[in-house]
Amino acid sequence: MYFPSWMRQLYRGLSAQPAWASPRRSLVLSPHRRLPEFSSFIARTNTCGELRSSHLGQEVTLCGWIQYRRQNIFLVLRDFHGLVQIVIPQDESAASVKKILCEAPVESVVQVSGTVVARPPGQENPKMPTGEIEIKVKTAELLNSCKKLPFEIKDFVKKTEALRLQYRYLDLRSFQMQRNLRLRSQMVMRMREYLCNLHGFIDIETPTLFKKTPGGAKEFLVPSREPGKFYSLPQSPQQFKQLLMIGGFDRYFQVARCYRDEGSRPDRQPEFTQIDIEMSFVDQTGIQQLIEGLLQYSWPSDRGAVALPFPSMTFAEALATYGTDKPDTRFGMKIIDISNVFRNTEIGFLQDALSKPQGTVKAICVPGGAEVLPVFLKTSINWNSPVAELIMEEQRLEFIRLMQVQEDDVILLTAGEHQKACSLLGKLRLECADLLEKKGVVLRDPALFSFLWVVDFPLFLPKEDNPRELESAHHPFTAPHPSDIHLLYTEPEKVRSQHYDLVLNGSEIGGGSIRIHNAELQHYVLATLLKEDVKLLSHLLQALDYGAPPHGGIALGLDRLMCLVTGSPSIRDVIAFPKSFRGHDLMSSAPDCVPPEDLKPYHIQVSWPADSESEKNSLNLHQES
Ligand code: ASP
Repeated sequence: MYFPSWMRQLYRGLSAQPAWASPRRSLVLSPHRRLPEFSSFIARTNTCGELRSSHLGQEVTLCGWIQYRRQNIFLVLRDFHGLVQIVIPQDESAASVKKILCEAPVESVVQVSGTVVARPPGQENPKMPTGEIEIKVKTAELLNSCKKLPFEIKDFVKKTEALRLQYRYLDLRSFQMQRNLRLRSQMVMRMREYLCNLHGFIDIETPTLFKKTPGGAKEFLVPSREPGKFYSLPQSPQQFKQLLMIGGFDRYFQVARCYRDEGSRPDRQPEFTQIDIEMSFVDQTGIQQLIEGLLQYSWPSDRGAVALPFPSMTFAEALATYGTDKPDTRFGMKIIDISNVFRNTEIGFLQDALSKPQGTVKAICVPGGAEVLPVFLKTSINWNSPVAELIMEEQRLEFIRLMQVQEDDVILLTAGEHQKACSLLGKLRLECADLLEKKGVVLRDPALFSFLWVVDFPLFLPKEDNPRELESAHHPFTAPHPSDIHLLYTEPEKVRSQHYDLVLNGSEIGGGSIRIHNAELQHYVLATLLKEDVKLLSHLLQALDYGAPPHGGIALGLDRLMCLVTGSPSIRDVIAFPKSFRGHDLMSSAPDCVPPEDLKPYHIQVSWPADSESEKNSLNLHQES
């Protein structure tokens, strides 16, 4: 069986033997991987993209879409597998076949039967995998005609994302969407294989209609027929997976749909998919090793080998060095603390910042930045900055030494409270990288995959809207770091947690934790420290009291992971039917209005905002018609 090169890559790309598997085990569990049979059970003998010279003389039946037609002599037929040239018969006896093939509009779907023949010498197309052959057609059937298209299917024809989403079923025919979704399916298959067949995990589905969970993301509500009672769509299967541990399913996984009412961003969707995992009797290292093995096993090998173990960095170090908890470690421009250089400075704003608790002066050096950035301080004699005169010579030398400044570099300097100064510089670091890359400097090699574990997060963070109260840095079920447990009762804000995040090229692609499995401790965290209504979680607290095993887990964001693996600009490019930026389905216009009588069984009524008259009227009209 033959494959277009991207398809071959796809199948070969899924790395073969995991480094750790013993030969015997792999013999039993990974029999020779067979290429799938693409034409079984259906009305074709072959796919369009698989035919080569070795098929010469074969009688074939193909089904596909008309990609284009040339001078009513040739027609190029396409399916997901590739393209093949069809010769339109010109003789009188085949007039009806010619009529079908010449009249069917582009993107119509046809079935053709004929013989695989060699292209005449000199007419081969080396750019086309099937370019040595063509099909001499005997019969043709128009299976369905295509109307005038809203856009051309070809990848190189630019179309707005709104139009692509409105006609998603057409957009899905593009090479890019075909490749992305097929690769996604392949990787998930390899993950299932790794988890279930190699490591004894059980795939268990958990409910989508659930109950409000305290803390965390905003949840979607679903009305019920009981007055005033609502389900919530789960933000993740977190509680269920912990309950499964208590139920004795000690190695669980699920390709789980999660829902968060948080509005879209390029890397977020209101509904998204996680590879959700939980294990009993495990520690942080165990989970990390599992995930490293999982990614190595499922990684397409044409994206380069995944080197293990992944490096690890504490949250404190990530913040201090990169100004974020998800550092892009593909490039430097690290944050440097230069507070000591300016201890005796006369520069007012630096003095001021350094006199405050946690006050620091930090800087990043943007190599070659003078070409692209507004200049603040320059290493040359004429430092181009209003504060330059106030910097003493020895300060200047020390500063240059610490920052390793070269001619034409730009230093961005900030003074203030440690965390704020770092996160500001962290954002500037990324902005500068964007600016430099726009000028053609390659800082973040797209072919490089830089994995990083971020560990030792604080268990709690001050709430954004009320910094005197605490909220969970991960979620309220996360266990404290064993060496910090005593601080829970005295200085909870200082407690580190057993929470770990997996970062890839500056995106958080996974996160998890070892859980609290003691009911009393969980109650204390929820009620006393987080001031949550424990009644909402009484089922979980009760369950923890019935012999809950120690357990922990993680969830990988499948959409983000696939977005990075495929090099797509948005997660919407790796989801078959995504929502728009504003959370709408542009194809079906969901969410949509429903007539008031449909709301009656739920005992709810819409209170229309003043500016929504037109929507309300259109609903009334709709009802009247
Ligand atoms: N449920 C968590 C999340 O969605 C992941 C975990 O802790 O396993 O972030």
